[in-house]
Amino acid sequence: MTILPVIPTSLDQPDAVATRRRPSMPPRHLADLDLAARKEAVSALGEPAFRAKQISTHYFGRLVREVDAMTDLPAASRARLTGDLLPTLLTPVRELACDDGATRKTLWRLHDGSLVESVLMGYPDRVTACVSSQAGCGMACPFCATGQQGLTRNLSIAEIVDQVVYLAGVAASGAVTGSPPRLSRVVFMGMGEPLANYPRVIEAVRRLTAPAPEGLGLSQRHITVSTVGLVPAIRRLTAEDLNVTLALSLHAPDDDLRDELVPVNQRWKVAEVLDAAFDYAARTGRRISIEYALIRDVNDQPWRADLLGKLLRGKLAHVNLIPLNPTPGSKWDASPKPVEREFVRRLREAGVATTVRDTRGREIDGACGQLAAGELTEASAGGAAADAEVAQ
Ligand code: SAH
Repeated sequence: MTILPVIPTSLDQPDAVATRRRPSMPPRHLADLDLAARKEAVSALGEPAFRAKQISTHYFGRLVREVDAMTDLPAASRARLTGDLLPTLLTPVRELACDDGATRKTLWRLHDGSLVESVLMGYPDRVTACVSSQAGCGMACPFCATGQQGLTRNLSIAEIVDQVVYLAGVAASGAVTGSPPRLSRVVFMGMGEPLANYPRVIEAVRRLTAPAPEGLGLSQRHITVSTVGLVPAIRRLTAEDLNVTLALSLHAPDDDLRDELVPVNQRWKVAEVLDAAFDYAARTGRRISIEYALIRDVNDQPWRADLLGKLLRGKLAHVNLIPLNPTPGSKWDASPKPVEREFVRRLREAGVATTVRDTRGREIDGACGQLAAGELTEASAGGAAADAEVAQ
């Protein structure tokens, strides 16, 4: 029997799902607010309005996250601002590096004890941050360990942004050997379903792309939002003035199999979700990325490659094949290389641009979620597993 996904009842009220307990959201942080709201907040604290710009320049411009390092602020102001606008949201539990320092993974504990992960990936020409948008995930995809864990809660805007600001600081310190020091891309491919936390993810994108000191000044095109395919949310995203890259986790070209691999397909079918994704591509002029984890003898048959090719032929889309990263205890494995090559060949023959994703960080439980899984298992015997792929 397939587990049913937990879908928010309203895009604007992403916390309105049947969770067992009320989620405990973190205290307010400056990254939750736009510059105008920050000015109001500092004035309400009895500070001069220019402090909003001052602390924003520290945080977004110089990537300084601790108020004590903002040495041009009077001590009394620092104390007031720490409590009200710069609380610690993310506490590192573990940090691991691999691929000769080009991949670095951080496991964070949030204020309520939830665990989430972020990954920094360095390439010769760019540095990419992979961030989490929720603690856990409600979408219940059986090959993804985060999906097995269930949803704990949505992350706040600032909890999302602070992951990126931290990673941008790591990159700026020169720690990612062989890569430029400026973080230039963000992918929402860590834990969680970003479009199930719609308003906060959109605001986080606005903060990441606003020029400093309001935000981090990244290019919208360099932000990828990856989704299981919540059709109303894709349609809403299409109507926003944002040109982010959309990735759709398809994993099967037919409804029978997709109903099982991506249970939300029981609600929105392949044809419907592709339609929404193609409309997004048409509106933005940006190619959509079709994510497809190749699972041995499950979705890697030549006929499925041909069917996928038929669905995507002539569309503004490319396929990103991901060798399955087996989750602990899973019955599934990655497809053998010759099968993968044949799948690629058939897609290309159909005229569909296809790449195989470079999988980073396997030796550090690189797929997002596995660190959290280890930690949870240690903390509570038989604890939940968590996994989501990390690279782009
Ligand atoms: N919820 C979003 C983002 C999460 S993960 C989404 O589903 O798109 C990013 C990608 O990693 C998704 O395509 C997801 O299906 C994939 N993924 C999850 N677990 C995986 C695994 N064990 N091996 C390979 N890819 C996996």
